Amino acid sequence: MIRQRAALDAMPSYKPGAIPQTDDVAKLSSNENPCEPLPSVVRAITGELAGINRYPSMAVPELRALLAERYDVDPLCLSFGAGSVEVLNQLIAATSGEGDEVIFAWRSFEAYPIVTVANGATPVQVPLLSDERHDLEAMAAAVTDRTRLILLCNPNNPTGATMSTAEVDAFLARVPSDILVVIDEAYVHFNRRPDSADGIDFFRRYDNVAVLHTFSKAYGLAGLRIGYAIAPLEVAENLRKVSVSFAVTALAQRAAVASLAAEAELDARVDELVVERERTVGALRAAGWSVPESEGNFFWLRTGTDTDAVNARLVEAGILVRAFAGEGIRVSIGSPEHNDRVIRVLSDLRQVAE
Ligand SMILES: *Cc1c(COP(=O)(O)O)cnc(C)c1O
Repeated sequence: MIRQRAALDAMPSYKPGAIPQTDDVAKLSSNENPCEPLPSVVRAITGELAGINRYPSMAVPELRALLAERYDVDPLCLSFGAGSVEVLNQLIAATSGEGDEVIFAWRSFEAYPIVTVANGATPVQVPLLSDERHDLEAMAAAVTDRTRLILLCNPNNPTGATMSTAEVDAFLARVPSDILVVIDEAYVHFNRRPDSADGIDFFRRYDNVAVLHTFSKAYGLAGLRIGYAIAPLEVAENLRKVSVSFAVTALAQRAAVASLAAEAELDARVDELVVERERTVGALRAAGWSVPESEGNFFWLRTGTDTDAVNARLVEAGILVRAFAGEGIRVSIGSPEHNDRVIRVLSDLRQVAE
């Protein structure tokens, strides 16, 4: 037996979305953007290929300058990573080690407990409210003198629920100012709630707030791996120290810059996905499903003990989703054709049940 860290024995393993076996499979299991990359983005990446014998710039200079200008923040408040999951790892590694606690809602993003335990820290998982929102009262009450980091997921993966500005203000008033609070906004572009908490606004107003953004979802760069945090200067400096060296490739940097240049086009696609989300959720509600309000590019069905049975029917119909046994099912919004298939299969199931 090789001596390894005992903490890893109890650690949940990350379950990747199922891999489609045929072209006809609707892969709605990883909240990916169903649209192909923009031609302008593909061209920009192609232009970088001739330089892949070189390491990328660790400073991420061009993208850093663009984002700093856009959000009107110090460029050194930014830390980049190979996807925001790597930046999440930086945030935990910089704040939390053996004996320290990381508070987050549960169920929420599957990476939270994994990255927490990988860094030797202890996850404190606070159950969601019955309407699928974060229980911010209970999360504030869970703070101890061992708490080093609090993660807020807005909108929450997998339930799609959001939190308002007023709710987050009330929460932060109860959190000691030396504990970092991270607002994970992986789905911010899909969020149409007018009074939703805005991460950058909180970053500006509080000295202990960081924001996590990704190019994976709305911008459709999941396969290239690039995300970033906007964090207080003292934190961002440490995030860069613990980051994986050269993790953000030149291709990813170039694609992100090209995406910002093509933002109007990308936003139009996001708008279409939001329309599809509302159409799909509306149709399922009309068929008798109870679907909580979602502000992400996915929706949530709390199928409870029926989860495996419902999931089996979806798989039979060539629809791959993320199922959490005994809890519920997260379905990503895909192409209109794939969403139609979801509506058809789930509506039929409802009729059989009645
Ligand atoms: C998808 C997702 C991410 C982003 O992952 P990347 O590593 O940037 O691809 C971060 N947080 C949440 C809540 C997510 O669902």
